Amino acid sequence: MPRSPEDDLTLEPSMVRTAPQAPPPKTSRFAPGSIIAARYRLVALLGRGGMGEVYRADDLTLDQPVALKFLPEGVAADPVRLAQFHNELRIARQVSHKNVCRLYDLGDADGRRFLTMEYVDGEDLASLLRRIGRFPQDKAIDVARQLCAGIAAAHERGVIHRDLKPANVMIDGDGNVRITDFGIATAANDIGVDVAGTPQYMAPELLAGKPASIKSDLYALGLILFEIVTGRRTYDAKTLGELRQLHDTGTITTPSAIVRDLDPAVERVILRCLARDPDERPASVLTVAAALPGGDPLAAALAAGETPSPDMVAAAGETDAWPVTKGLSALLFVTIAMLLCAGFATRTTLSRLLPLDKPPAVLDDRAEQILSALGYNEPRGDTAHGLGPYAPYIVWIARTDLSPNRWDVLGRDRPPGFIFWYRTSPHTLAPRQLALHVTPLDPPQADTDMHTVTIDMHGRLIGFTSVPRQFEDGGAAAAIPPPWPQLFELADLPMRDFTAVETQWTPRDYADARGAWEGALPGRADLRVRVEAAAYRGRAVSFLLIGPWTVPTRMQAVQRALEDRIGYAVFLTVLVALLGGAVVLARYNVRHGRADRRGAMRVAIFAVCTELVSWVTGNHHLPDLRLEALSLSAVLSDAVALGVILWTIYAALEPYGRRFWPEMLLGWSRLLSGRIRDPRVGRDVLLGVTFGVVWFGLEIARRLLPQALGYPGTVPRMGSDATTLFGAAETISDWATIILRELQVALGSVLLLVVLRLLTRRASLAVPIAMVIIIYWWSTLTFTAALPVEVTYELIIAAAFTFVLIRFGLLAAAVARIVVGLCQAVPFTLQVSHWSATASNWTIAAIVLLAMFGFYASRAGEPLFGKFAPP
Ligand code: ADP
Ligand code: MG
Repeated sequence: MPRSPEDDLTLEPSMVRTAPQAPPPKTSRFAPGSIIAARYRLVALLGRGGMGEVYRADDLTLDQPVALKFLPEGVAADPVRLAQFHNELRIARQVSHKNVCRLYDLGDADGRRFLTMEYVDGEDLASLLRRIGRFPQDKAIDVARQLCAGIAAAHERGVIHRDLKPANVMIDGDGNVRITDFGIATAANDIGVDVAGTPQYMAPELLAGKPASIKSDLYALGLILFEIVTGRRTYDAKTLGELRQLHDTGTITTPSAIVRDLDPAVERVILRCLARDPDERPASVLTVAAALPGGDPLAAALAAGETPSPDMVAAAGETDAWPVTKGLSALLFVTIAMLLCAGFATRTTLSRLLPLDKPPAVLDDRAEQILSALGYNEPRGDTAHGLGPYAPYIVWIARTDLSPNRWDVLGRDRPPGFIFWYRTSPHTLAPRQLALHVTPLDPPQADTDMHTVTIDMHGRLIGFTSVPRQFEDGGAAAAIPPPWPQLFELADLPMRDFTAVETQWTPRDYADARGAWEGALPGRADLRVRVEAAAYRGRAVSFLLIGPWTVPTRMQAVQRALEDRIGYAVFLTVLVALLGGAVVLARYNVRHGRADRRGAMRVAIFAVCTELVSWVTGNHHLPDLRLEALSLSAVLSDAVALGVILWTIYAALEPYGRRFWPEMLLGWSRLLSGRIRDPRVGRDVLLGVTFGVVWFGLEIARRLLPQALGYPGTVPRMGSDATTLFGAAETISDWATIILRELQVALGSVLLLVVLRLLTRRASLAVPIAMVIIIYWWSTLTFTAALPVEVTYELIIAAAFTFVLIRFGLLAAAVARIVVGLCQAVPFTLQVSHWSATASNWTIAAIVLLAMFGFYASRAGEPLFGKFAPP
């Protein structure tokens, strides 16, 4: 767009300079075609401004058009000034944004300094406005938004323009805005102007000699916006004195007085920018962008290449109610699907495939009867019990029987699929870890008169160990026959049908009599079992019912396989590297005020509290204050360590999540900021529950499909489900553990996405890679014959989860994981009044209630079921 140089002299000479200076030469100093610094061929004079001439030139080295701007002579003269100018250039050059004209370099041609910069093929706003008057409103807002984005990008780098004015705003043929001369206005100081910049566009405080700031740029922005929408200058002063006077009297013609149908929002933001007091102006350029009509703070921040603040993310997006039809259908679906899934889950859960007719209290009593029948009646210091899958037997079935209906055998009387253990000690049973549950092996059975009774769910003895007296007093050595018949009777085995054989299995504790027998298991002529028993001075020390499934457990090889050790070393290295990286990043983010410290703190506190709840409800509490305190401190230190790690990782990576996928954190940020009943939170929760239930349904299908297709039946779910059978406290403890675990998995997935996005620099690469890793991470492939079913399931789940995470956000994804985690851990049943139904009932109710809450919140206080149209 060729223009005459005179066209660009937008300011009267009296406005530009207060110090005496020679008027700019009418003819340009360099002729077109001359080569500058052996690298640039001048093409044409683009204009002449406050500092000097601007030429269009060709960079001969890189074969690229550039703009050359010659600096006033004074700039190079003083070394201190020069160093300061270099410093500013260095910072200004870091600003890279599509609305900011790129600065390239500083050159020297025969002692004349010049700047090279991006050549913008367009017209500057000053001459454009002179030509067309004012912009139509929508175009004006578009230009305003681009201006804001560019200025915000520079401000984020700490670069202040100091000389914002229409002549420094270029608009190219496509209407794209490019702001020129960012951060170089101080060079003008050198030519004797008392203040940098152009007085016409200077904030009152600058005219008063105060330093430039973000707020003075905002003032100038206000003036430009004024000009764009009205086509007129705010202050039409002829001299500096006149301008000062205008500022002082504070008379501004309001834009709406010039343009009648101006959007009041535009006028408001312009007038706020033009406030005399810098403190009354908007806080940042982004605030201006957000205040423009249709302004979305999140979009404004992203357009400026800035990381939106957590509050900005929380405030972004819709706050309207979610449609009734969608919400209600989701709620209905969750309720029905949950019940259906619970019904089908009974066919995939171990504890529901076998008769659980005796509640724990009855089995406790039965174990005590066994102990007293064996003559162990000493007072009990502490007892503990537990129940769970009879793992060796299950593994044996899985290995030896490949028929589709192989698990039907669990419904039979014996051998047991589930076992119940009962431990007693004359002292307290304090687990070595102090913070964990008592197990059959922890604390070790070391003291005299510690007993462990193992029975099946009917109360038949299947295992027994007891520690005999440590000290023999010789007198009582009279020969009492070992209690073999009693043991057979307690185990409900007909001794006469068993034949005595050589002993093979040694008792763990000392014994003076041993016996071994073999015979068929009653009712299972096909199964030969072996009984090994040991006694000391006529009292039972050990009893073991051994089937073909039994494997020795106390003689495992100590050495781990080489690949295991390598794998572990790699895992550990990656873990330490990741944590180290997280600490560095977190520190950086906190220092630069980017980290969401409140959010990180809330996540950490939630983790600590959840661990504590799990401890209070699920731990084996001891009647010993010292041990209890130790146990609590062990749990607390664990919990705090987890909290610190979560805090660090959150502070390290969440800001990037906010930057790359702010939408993903929308509902999550609102929840973390305490807006629990926000409609977006409600919608995300409801969608999360829905997806979680669908997921659980898919998982059931994946477990039931193989046998329907003729593959071997899937191994029933065993997991942690057994503890929740006991009742309310154990259920709550399990819930807490699961919620915390699944929350970490969901957060981990976001962090995975962020790390991959940082590494690959592209979302289109990060997402598929994340999916592959998620498949590997969550994979429960058992490599059975039904591999196609399993692989399909894994693929669907990983894809669906990633989709939910990106499309509906972290909150929905976390809720989904929690719901499916609960469903997988809790042994569902539809027999609501069975002794073992507490966890099932509560969990079904909790999930449906969660969905109801989501629905309620998603309605944003509007009538829950919508308004019915009047007839
Ligand atoms: P001012 O002091 O008024 O900002 P400048 O010396 O910066 O004047 O620029 C003079 C004129 O040169 C501008 O009005 C503009 O039309 C043109 N110009 C400046 N920079 C560029 C550029 N990077 N690309 C194209 N034209 C430019
Ligand atoms: Mg300029």
